[in-house]
Amino acid sequence: MDYAATILSRLPGASKRDHGVRRLIDTLKSYLPDEHLGQVMRAYEFGADAHKGQTRKSGEPYITHPVAVAQELADMRLDVQAITAAILHDVVEDTEASLDDIEEQFGHEVAQLVDGVSKLDQIQFRSRAEAQAESFRKMMMAMIEDIRVILVKLADRLHNMQTLGAMPTSKKKRIARETLDIYAPIANRLGINSLKIQLEDMGFKHLHPFRYRVLDKALKKSKGSQRQIVKRISDEFGKAMTEEGIEGDISGREKHLYSIYKKMAEKKRLLSDVVDVYGFRIIVEDVNACYQTLGLVHQLYKPMPGRFKDYIAIPRVNGYQSLHTTLFGPKGLPLEVQIRTREMDRVANSGVASHWVYKADEKSDATPQRRAREWLTNLAELQQSGTSEEFLESVKVDLFPDKIYVFTPKGDIMPLPKGATTVDFAYAVHTDIGDRCVAAKINRGLVPLRTPLQNGQTVEIVTARGAKPNPNWLTFVRSAKARTAIRNHMKNLRSVESVDLGKRLLDKSLKDLGSSLRKVGKVRMSSVLEELGLNNDTELFEQLGLGERLAPLTARILMGVDQDDEGESQAASLVISGTEGMVLSYAKCCYPIPGDDVMGYLTAGRGIVIHRNSCGNLSNFRKQPEKWIAVAWEKEIEREFSCQIQTETRNRTGVLAEVAATIADCGSNIEQVEVLGRHEDCSVLSFLLTVKDRKHLAKIMRNVRKMPNVMRVSRDCA
Ligand code: MN
Repeated sequence: MDYAATILSRLPGASKRDHGVRRLIDTLKSYLPDEHLGQVMRAYEFGADAHKGQTRKSGEPYITHPVAVAQELADMRLDVQAITAAILHDVVEDTEASLDDIEEQFGHEVAQLVDGVSKLDQIQFRSRAEAQAESFRKMMMAMIEDIRVILVKLADRLHNMQTLGAMPTSKKKRIARETLDIYAPIANRLGINSLKIQLEDMGFKHLHPFRYRVLDKALKKSKGSQRQIVKRISDEFGKAMTEEGIEGDISGREKHLYSIYKKMAEKKRLLSDVVDVYGFRIIVEDVNACYQTLGLVHQLYKPMPGRFKDYIAIPRVNGYQSLHTTLFGPKGLPLEVQIRTREMDRVANSGVASHWVYKADEKSDATPQRRAREWLTNLAELQQSGTSEEFLESVKVDLFPDKIYVFTPKGDIMPLPKGATTVDFAYAVHTDIGDRCVAAKINRGLVPLRTPLQNGQTVEIVTARGAKPNPNWLTFVRSAKARTAIRNHMKNLRSVESVDLGKRLLDKSLKDLGSSLRKVGKVRMSSVLEELGLNNDTELFEQLGLGERLAPLTARILMGVDQDDEGESQAASLVISGTEGMVLSYAKCCYPIPGDDVMGYLTAGRGIVIHRNSCGNLSNFRKQPEKWIAVAWEKEIEREFSCQIQTETRNRTGVLAEVAATIADCGSNIEQVEVLGRHEDCSVLSFLLTVKDRKHLAKIMRNVRKMPNVMRVSRDCA
């Protein structure tokens, strides 16, 4: 008598009431060592005892559910800890037994898994759109800690879907929706196709029961008539392969209902178009045989152009590998053929779960596992920076859309989310490359950085020393990695710049009071820092630079001057050079340029915004004089500034082009043109230009004014 039989003989009563555990042990003994079977039996006894008296909605004893979940995982050949945790997964939630009991009897690892699953149980998702960011994040985190948690959860969800039974319709629909929106995509992302298909079909069945029934019926009907054709073509393939000495299995491939439904819904196809497609799967010994077989079927029937996919050379992001092709079959019927090796087939069905049995070999870089691990590591990094909304956004991008594949100049393959741009590519190669990229080439031609990439392109990034990421990139990048990297860079940059500005502001305020940072000294500084609850002067400078704290006030505190003492004169101004970066910005209402009389306004979190003294918006701000800073321009300023002018021109063909040419001749770039008004014979245009200073602007305006079709030129000021 073998060990499994011994264990089973311990079951009470006849085989009838074994709750499915006989079958489970049968499956397990095919791949687990005997001593593991003992632990599974103990878990079963523990669970049966804990759930005693509880029943499922169907009336069956509750323990049948966890055993069924374990069975699903056993079919995927998961290890003993996962099987044990599956049997115990509802014990902590639903019975008197505690996590400590489980830890004591089954060890830390099992207890951790059960804990992870119980935590997931408390999360409810409404839909993809409504999925609460924070809950979703928790779910992902549980998965990152141990991927088996999510495998147990997926199997749990599947069995619950199969036994939804007599629940109210609205509740059924909610669960079905959640299954389709959250669980099936996760199964898909992890490459566990068998689970994904079942989850989708069950979700579809409960979400759209009527449509499901109609489709199911139509499909069953067509299957009968298809059988002959499938047999005939399989034989043809088989014969051709035998002649070439290729061994392999050929089978007609069943399509699952939900994929048919999705095709109909998304591509607006008729049922007959979708159903009358014949699917074949050919499993051969090795990769060479795959390509040989592909050649054979292409000789038998003409391939449809554009339908051949080589997922062997370029695997899908979840590790899936196969050759796909569609042929024009007899009478023009489309034949979809998948060709792959046995190993690839196993991966196609079980994805991340496909190698569990060999888990002892930790370093194995079996593709789906490595990919899943990479994905989860990325998630873990993401979740450390950024909010849960940002996190959810990134995960969604990963879970739901298709990927595209592009090549590096060396021919390495880079998977990117659909819609990704050259900047995403640069960051995918390396954060450093992304940070320093200035230009990009697609298939050797220069393109703007924001260009979306297409499958199969070769992308080359041009970098420059000292180049920096542009905040503007955030408007077009698609990948989480690029977005996070750019944001981080902005945060750091802002902090460096604000520290510098804050220091200057404080020094200026001190000088107004006849002192300076040096005169104040370190001792006084540290005692004030302590008073303000700050760790160091860098923190203080940063707050000052970001406008979160006011420099004149801080200066007074440092000098020990009474706050009411208004003795000082507004002597020195803060000198601006235009190189202050993001902590100093120029108001978009009045576009100040060097030479204008200007003032600075402190905005919390944004540093100083420079306005022209004549700006109409100033009256609003005048109520807070403590936030105003006197500023003056540096004598030599290198950079260019944006500035706006308005023109009134006669409506003649080509007038706009003439004005634009004149402006360009003066060495200015036009950033934007807007037609503000158009009358019978004249138009009012607004130009946003780049200029060096007031002199430069004056020259441009003079030259434009001289033009015959220009009636008026003026500088805007809101
Ligand atoms: Mn359960």
